[in-house]
Amino acid sequence: MKAWLNRDHGAALQCEEVPDPDPGTEGLVIKVSHCGLCHSDLHRWHGISNMGSRGVIHRPRPENPIAMGHEIVGEIVGMGSAVTGRSLGEKVIVYPWFGCGKCKACLAGEDNMCREPTRSLGFGNHGGFAERVAVPHERYAVPLGDLAPEQAAPLACAGLTVRCAIRKIEPFDPTETIVTIGTGGVGLTAISVLHALGHRNVVALDRDASRATDAVAAGAARFIATPEGTTSASLVEALGGKIDNVLDFVNSSETAALAFDLLGKGGRMVQVGLYGGELNVPLPLLTGASLTVRGSITGTLGDLRDVVRMAREGLLPAIPVSVLPRSSINDAIQSLDKGQVKGRIVLVAEGG
Ligand SMILES: [Zn+2]
Ligand SMILES: [Zn+2]
Repeated sequence: MKAWLNRDHGAALQCEEVPDPDPGTEGLVIKVSHCGLCHSDLHRWHGISNMGSRGVIHRPRPENPIAMGHEIVGEIVGMGSAVTGRSLGEKVIVYPWFGCGKCKACLAGEDNMCREPTRSLGFGNHGGFAERVAVPHERYAVPLGDLAPEQAAPLACAGLTVRCAIRKIEPFDPTETIVTIGTGGVGLTAISVLHALGHRNVVALDRDASRATDAVAAGAARFIATPEGTTSASLVEALGGKIDNVLDFVNSSETAALAFDLLGKGGRMVQVGLYGGELNVPLPLLTGASLTVRGSITGTLGDLRDVVRMAREGLLPAIPVSVLPRSSINDAIQSLDKGQVKGRIVLVAEGG
C-alpha cells in the first residue's frame, strides 16, 4: 500500500510503498477514507520537544519512519479469523491509542496509559496517512453510523482527548466558570463537549481575538482575548475573581503560568497540549491553596464511545473543518505549522 512517510524532520512527507497491514487473528484492516491532521502530528514532524530549563530535544531523523495520522475514519476491508459480528464494508471510527492489552492500565481500559512502548497508530504503527491501517482487536473500531466522516474523524483524538481531560475536573456545577485556553481544534472541541455535558459557563481564552466567533459558536459563554503581555491580575479581574477549573490546551510556559495564577483555593488545572516549556510555581501556594496540577494524554476507548454518542445524539456543536485531498498533505502540514487553520483539516482519500 501507499504511505506518506516522515523521513526527515521538517521535510515534505514521502509517498512510498510499504507492506500491507495484517489484521492478525482478532483484528481488522481498515481502508482509510478520512484522516484528521492534529498538532501532535506536527510535533512529531518537527521532531522537537521543548523541555524548558532541561533543554530542547531535537531528533535529527525519525528513528522509525512511519506514516503519521491518528484521526481515522474508514471501512473494514479485512478481518481476523476470530472476529465475529462485524462485516466487510462497515464504516468505522478508529481508536488509535491501543496499548499492549496486558498491562495494568490496558486491563483497566486505559490503553492511553499503557506501560509498554507505544503501538498507537501514527506513532508505533503506520497511521492514517496511508491507504490502510490495522487494529489488533475489533473493539477499536467504533461504528460510524450516520455521522459525517469529516466531523467524526477528529473525535478519535480531539474528541476523546478533551473528554478524558474533562473527566479530571468532574463533577462540576454547570454554572461555575470553567476556563479553556486555546481555540484550535482541540480547544474548540472541549468547549463543545462541555456544552454537550450541560455546562453553560465556559470562558474561552486565546491570544488571537479573531477566534471569538468560533469559540462562541462551539458553546462558550464568553471569549477573552489574551494578547502577549496579558497579566493574570487583569484576567482575574475580568473573570470576577479566581476560579476552580482551568483546562489548558496549549501547554506552553506562558499559558500554564497564566492558568496557575487563575486558580482559587482548591483549584485544579489540567495540561493537555504539547507546545512545550515549563511551569515554575511557588510551592507554598501549591500547598496553602491545595491546588491540583495535572496532565492528561489522549483518552480511552470509553471516552471515544462517549463523544461518538454525543455526536449521534446531536449534542455536539460542529467545529470548523476543512476537507482537503490526501495528496495535498504537505500543504496541509505547512498551513497548520503557520497557524492558518481554523478548527481541523481532514484529509480525504482520492478515487474512493
Ligand atoms: Zn492528535
Ligand atoms: Zn498496556
